Amino acid sequence: MAEGLAFSCNCGALRGEVAAQGIKTGTRVVCYCADCRANELYHGQPDPAPDPVDLFQLAPDTITITQGADHLKALRLGPRGPLRWFASCCGTPFANTLAKPGLPFAGMRSDLFQDKSALGKIRARAFIPAPGKQARTKGGGAMAWGILSRMITARLSGRWKETPFFDAETGKPVAEPQLISKTERAKLYP
Ligand SMILES: [Zn+2]
Ligand SMILES: [Zn+2]
Repeated sequence: MAEGLAFSCNCGALRGEVAAQGIKTGTRVVCYCADCRANELYHGQPDPAPDPVDLFQLAPDTITITQGADHLKALRLGPRGPLRWFASCCGTPFANTLAKPGLPFAGMRSDLFQDKSALGKIRARAFIPAPGKQARTKGGGAMAWGILSRMITARLSGRWKETPFFDAETGKPVAEPQLISKTERAKLYP
């Protein structure tokens, strides 16, 4: 079997591996949206702007946390937003998922991997700012197709239940997501 790719948070307390299949079927994208930036700022990471946040979208069932899974916590920037998972040991943003496991999706932060080049080329650029216009997305087709095909595969195989983010029995997140306050939120959207 081909080797997976190791990941860890900044301090190294939370570690794991993405299976080779997950690397092969994942899509590397970058996102310029205000929420991805706000998430970095919330955790005291360097401000990515004007650069985007580098993400690797993959099937959650290909992610295995081998150490420090109890550090995995989640927050929400707004009541309807995705779950933004992070390593609470050191405040490293970890991944975004949808609120329920039934639509299996994860966008891991590419910086968690020592070897980002192993994640492949950047296939899509989301929410590119355009002065005076609506933000544009390039490569949206490749991104959407990746999300859809991974969801279908995970549903048909039943592997969608094997996710580090949700309890297989109850479908509840492994950590209760915290909604950040309006005051905190205001500071994150400069
Ligand atoms: Zn850590
Ligand atoms: Zn974003």
